[in-house]
Amino acid sequence: MLISNLGYPRIGRGRTLKRLLEAYWQGEMDEAGLLDGARRLEEDHWRQQARLGVDLVPVGDFSLYDHVLDTAVTFDLVPERFKCLASDLAVYFAAARGLPNVKACALKKWFDTNYHYIVPEWEKSPALAANLPLQAYRRARDVLGDRAKPVVLGPFTFVKLSKKRPHLRRALDELAPLYGRLLLALEAAGATWVQVDEPWLVRDVTEEEMECLAAVYRRITRDLGGLKIMLQTYFGAPDRYASLAALPVHGLGLDFVRGGRENLANLERYGFPRDKHLGAGIVDGRNIWRTNLRQALALVQKLLSYVPEDRLWLQPSCSLMHLPVTTAGESHLPPALHGALAFADERLAELYVLARAVREGEGAVVAELAASDRARRALEELDGRAVPAVRARVAALSEADFDRAVPFEVRRRRQADRLALPPFPTTTIGSFPQTSEVRRARARRRRGEWSEEQYQAFIRSQIAEWIRLQEELGLDVLVHGEFERNDMVEYFAARLRGYAVTADGWVQSYGSRCVKPPILYGDVYRDTPLTLAEAVYAQSLTPRPVKAILTGPVTMVNWSFVREDLPLDQIAYQVALAVRDEIADLEKAGLPIVQVDEPAIREGLPLRTEERASYLSWAVRAFRLATAGVRPETQVHTHMCYSEFGDIIEAIEALDADVISIEAARGGDALALFKRRAYPRDVGPGVFDVHSPHAPDVEEMAQVIREALKLFPAERLWVNPDCGLKTRQKEEAVTALARMVEAARRLRAEHTAG
Ligand code: GLN
Ligand code: ZN
Repeated sequence: MLISNLGYPRIGRGRTLKRLLEAYWQGEMDEAGLLDGARRLEEDHWRQQARLGVDLVPVGDFSLYDHVLDTAVTFDLVPERFKCLASDLAVYFAAARGLPNVKACALKKWFDTNYHYIVPEWEKSPALAANLPLQAYRRARDVLGDRAKPVVLGPFTFVKLSKKRPHLRRALDELAPLYGRLLLALEAAGATWVQVDEPWLVRDVTEEEMECLAAVYRRITRDLGGLKIMLQTYFGAPDRYASLAALPVHGLGLDFVRGGRENLANLERYGFPRDKHLGAGIVDGRNIWRTNLRQALALVQKLLSYVPEDRLWLQPSCSLMHLPVTTAGESHLPPALHGALAFADERLAELYVLARAVREGEGAVVAELAASDRARRALEELDGRAVPAVRARVAALSEADFDRAVPFEVRRRRQADRLALPPFPTTTIGSFPQTSEVRRARARRRRGEWSEEQYQAFIRSQIAEWIRLQEELGLDVLVHGEFERNDMVEYFAARLRGYAVTADGWVQSYGSRCVKPPILYGDVYRDTPLTLAEAVYAQSLTPRPVKAILTGPVTMVNWSFVREDLPLDQIAYQVALAVRDEIADLEKAGLPIVQVDEPAIREGLPLRTEERASYLSWAVRAFRLATAGVRPETQVHTHMCYSEFGDIIEAIEALDADVISIEAARGGDALALFKRRAYPRDVGPGVFDVHSPHAPDVEEMAQVIREALKLFPAERLWVNPDCGLKTRQKEEAVTALARMVEAARRLRAEHTAG
């Protein structure tokens, strides 16, 4: 019985990859330096996994930016518009990040995670341009020998994730021979197993799609000699297990953490094919709690009744890239909490214990099992796990707590009277550039070089500077700029009870960007204001309306590692009440507008249609619980980015926010759905992409709104960027905002003229 890993965090301890990438982008490091550094990191990761006892180490899961983009490069599907650049690497990063006047490829959420992939564009037929998996495998063989297991993104999922592509069947027809050649080359180089990831299989898959998939796998396995394919699914149970089991592949990887019940039921019903290996995901690649080893062991024993030991692989439920590297740096946490955590390395260590228990008998791991029991018990007894007042407050909620007092049309009039905004009001999404000065200030406070007062004075000076700037730029609704926040979730988590933040728990979000999801371990409540002082200070500096910005309960939950002993809706209501308390204070202090950001609401949507309604029901209720307590004349905004609203438009309406700002500049089709269904609230379609350093010109921004005017009456449209500006340089932000305000002026002129 082997231990196989599906993927390892690329970013490295201390975010090594981020530092390399940024040095290269800033011109402080040349191409050779970047590649050399990245290869060394990749190699360290291989060695570390081997050291932890992994028998089959994933190779090719590492990426300089994104594995889907790597696959697009492999098949020559990088759009022509970037090919003006001399080096392959420059083209690669241009596709990911854009160029002056050349839009980057779209960035989208990877299934229901907070990782973003680069959307491949099929401008032309694919070709096997650069066999990246083979290159990685050759490097890995020197380090890992036979332990090296290449990982490739499967053709079905790759096509499903692509845009501008032909019909599935044709796209797969074009890809099949290329995959065939790619695999043959791996075989010739000595690979014995290849992991082919097909996570799309856990979504809804039609029978016709399944036939296309079967055809392509028949074709790509036909010519293989010694190389075996482990068809890997994760993030749930595959929709069509029986058909998958019949495919001519050599192994099937199943996620028994997320899809446990369904996968077991399928094994029970259909058995497991005699000719295949089972890759069993038995420790969680998505959450950070130590595995209940006894339960996991029982699961392994059960699996052994379906498949013999020599055909069973123990695996994490999915790639470990969704976890931080190690808990080793987190000893500042309460010991009971620290001891209850397992990040990537600890997960692999757990697999090793489980494998030993099977290989040598439970007697060999008595101490490890006892330690696992102790850790779980200590977590249960941890202070703050159950706070009676919080439980009672949630239990006492009534329907009225979820509803605003008057309907939208009435609120709208009162808000209009109070705010007196021009047509096409301009605003931003909340954050302004987190300059090195801002980050340095935070570091100074952390290191104790600055007192709390010094730090607060600095934050106030930033707020004052940007309030002045916004007034000069001519923006209509101002924000304070979020300078006090390192992150939109962690900042609030650090101020709420029931949450802990990590020191080095970084997880890749996209490219070099990482987030540090906080750990929601106990009952959540607010015993001190979250961002009241900053908003109130900003409003004191200007007669224009200031919009206070908060992170919503659904995003707080979806972007945290959350406890597993309470249902998600209960957790979300606790967070919602904390946000509600903050909003009540903001309103009392005179802030006329609050924005409750929910960029994560869409990604939390279950992958299977049948599970969606119950998620959306609590998600909508949590948002309403957070926001419904305000007076009619207080305007509630919400913001979402990279959301494909098509399948949740009714839920978005049900949020009952007065204004929603959304992404429309980059993905391109955010407005399309409103063609199908009129949205009855105010909308701010993002007029420029904040992820690109290059602002479009005034006309291009105006054009986004002109398109929107085909769908919305002028008085319902706002003008704003498509997300916060924290990742931009100050000059970039100012240039973009100046053009945006000019675009709004142009629209106003056109509108009054017309
Ligand atoms: N208010 C946040 C910001 O401006 C929103 C970020 C987000 O949507 N991801 O940074
Ligand atoms: Zn956003």
